[in-house]
Amino acid sequence: MDYGFYPLSLRERGGVRAFKKTQFLTVRSIYVGLVNVLSRYGCRFGHGWSKSMNSIPHLEIHLAHACNLACESCSHYSNQGHKGILSLAEAEHSMKLWNRRLIPHTFSLLGGEPSIHPDLPEFVLLARRVWPSAHLRLVTNGFFLHRHPALPAILQRDPNTSIYLSIHHDGPEYAEKLRPVMELLKSWVRNYRIRVNIYLSFKHWTRVYRGSGNIMEPFKNGQPRQSWEHCPAKYCPQLFEGKI
Ligand code: SF4
Repeated sequence: MDYGFYPLSLRERGGVRAFKKTQFLTVRSIYVGLVNVLSRYGCRFGHGWSKSMNSIPHLEIHLAHACNLACESCSHYSNQGHKGILSLAEAEHSMKLWNRRLIPHTFSLLGGEPSIHPDLPEFVLLARRVWPSAHLRLVTNGFFLHRHPALPAILQRDPNTSIYLSIHHDGPEYAEKLRPVMELLKSWVRNYRIRVNIYLSFKHWTRVYRGSGNIMEPFKNGQPRQSWEHCPAKYCPQLFEGKI
C-alpha cells in the first residue's frame, strides 16, 4: 500500500515563482510519457525496433545486502549478517542482458539498505539509461540518505522517480530516530519537489522463516503450495548476477 504524503500535485504547486521549473517538468513529463507509449509498442530509443520486448509490472535490484537495521524475519536476510555491495559495472552488465527483452513498468533500487552504497546516485542514472521509460523507485529506510547530497537534484531532473520510505516500527523511539530523516525528506520535497511516498512496512510484516542466526529454520508444515500462494515475494522478481 502506498501512503504518499507528498503527492505530485503538491510538489508542483509553487505559484509564479516556480513557473519556469514547472514548465520544465511538464516538458520532461511529456517526453517521458511519449517514451512510455512508444516503449509499450516495442520502440527503444537508440536501439531500434524490437518485437520481442515484454512489459512486466516490476523488477528490482539489490544494491547492498547489509542493512543498518535488523528486522526480525527480514526477507533479504540482512538481519543474518548478509553483506556486500553491487558494483556499478556488475549492475550495468546484468541490466543490459535484459533491457532488450523486458520493459519493467517499475524498476526498484533496494537492498538491504541501498543508501549504504556510496554510489547510490549513480545507480539512479544507470537505471535510467538502461530503462528509459521505467518508473524508478528507491526503497529505503532513510537513515543514510543524508550521505547522498547529490541525490535530490538527480531525482528532480527525472520526474518519473520516487523515494519510497519504508517505516519498520511504530514505536515512539523509532519515530524519534526517524525525525531527522523526515526533516531531510521534507526539505528535499520543498527545495527539489521530488516525490516521496511512505510505506508502513510494520503493518505488513510477515514471518518468512523461524528463528534467527544458526537456529534459523524454514517452516515445516509440508504445504509448499500454500506458502507460495501467500508469499508476496513472487511479485518482486529481482535481477541478480545476470539472472532474474
Ligand atoms: S530495513 Fe529492510 S533490509 Fe533492513 S533489516 Fe529491515 S527488512 Fe531487512
